[in-house]
Amino acid sequence: MRKSTYALAAAGLAALVLGAGAVAQEQAAVNAGEVNVYSYRQPFLIQPMFDAFTRDTGVKVNVVFAKTGLVERLKQEGRNSPADLIFTVDIGRLNDAYEAGVTAPVETAQLTASIPTAFRQGEGHWYGLTQRARIIYASKERVSRDDAPKSYEELADPKWAGRICTRAGNHVYQVALTAAMIAHHGEEKAEAWLRGLKSNLARKPQGNDRAQVKAINEGECDISLGNNYYFGLMLQNEEQFGWAQSVYPVFPKIGNKGTHVNISGMAMTKASPNRDNAVKLMEFLTGDLAQQMYSEQNFEYPVVAGVPQAGLLRSMGDLHPDTLALDRIAALRADAFKLVDKVGYND
Ligand code: FE
Repeated sequence: MRKSTYALAAAGLAALVLGAGAVAQEQAAVNAGEVNVYSYRQPFLIQPMFDAFTRDTGVKVNVVFAKTGLVERLKQEGRNSPADLIFTVDIGRLNDAYEAGVTAPVETAQLTASIPTAFRQGEGHWYGLTQRARIIYASKERVSRDDAPKSYEELADPKWAGRICTRAGNHVYQVALTAAMIAHHGEEKAEAWLRGLKSNLARKPQGNDRAQVKAINEGECDISLGNNYYFGLMLQNEEQFGWAQSVYPVFPKIGNKGTHVNISGMAMTKASPNRDNAVKLMEFLTGDLAQQMYSEQNFEYPVVAGVPQAGLLRSMGDLHPDTLALDRIAALRADAFKLVDKVGYND
């Protein structure tokens, strides 16, 4: 589907589910067979897993999708909120929900056994569902495998002057990476790194992760940063297939650790009227079947060890994720934002 058509369809769907949300609100308290979800994740990314859950348990999942404002909405609704769970991407957004005080702790034997500690909040206020690696895309034509950067640190090497493209430095994906650099190297070294990276940019930061690969295909730059699942998404897209074909993925290290990863995740709401069903859904989504579905359909990595990855992911190379706890990254996000401003990354 073309992007504009998709946006229209998504907007229509959002209106539809928001309408359904009002109905869910009235029924939530009386209907024991339901669970209500507020989601920043687009419906097509999570609906297949929810459908599988409903088939398995008979519990219906009502989804309200919105691009922004769900935490504010939870705050306004307070104790009367119909929402049981919130779904989002990025540790920053999960942490925002936690800090806004709209989440509740959950601890079950299955959740704590299956999700590594780096990918869940200490008291169970949020849990990761999928890992998303921030990787390097390198031009097949102009960057040999030997030359390709093996670490994020190397992106600041003057040998890449004028050859790198990235999106804006204050986007959540870039902020998390910068926060991880601060966690590993301290603020001073992270600042020097960000300045170095900025000075190697081929153009002013702009566009999304896929737009950087497009720029490589068009010869504007040789190296970009992007999340791993876009490789799969581009290969499935008629217009973008050629962009993906012009690059190969590299899994860089951060310091002597692994590749920087972020998560998509879920949190129980404080007001949850269907808590038992919500816990059931949380456990289902961290089960092997749902974890494998996430990998196959969205090209994200399971958070649960031992779950088979999609063939495409395996073909891209081995992910060895950095094991830094994501709440460390969350805590350093404000400092990372400041660094982005300080070095004038987007100027
Ligand atoms: Fe994304």
